[in-house]
Amino acid sequence: MAESNKNQTAAERARLKEALGAQLTDHVCASPNCPSPGERIIQKELYPVVTLAPRRRTVFYHKACGPKLS
Ligand SMILES: [Zn+2]
Repeated sequence: MAESNKNQTAAERARLKEALGAQLTDHVCASPNCPSPGERIIQKELYPVVTLAPRRRTVFYHKACGPKLS
């Protein structure tokens, strides 16, 4: 029984993590090339970028839309 409980806990945790990742944030994508502009970004797709100018603020992108650091 303990074994099954342990498995259940792991599955539960994975499901919770998945649910959290799928949660909508209040942020929309700042990319002009975004395929779904104006749609709120889900947690696991969120890609925050801190800009230094003109003043320190954070803009948000989808992971797929964010600027590539290379
Ligand atoms: Zn986007």
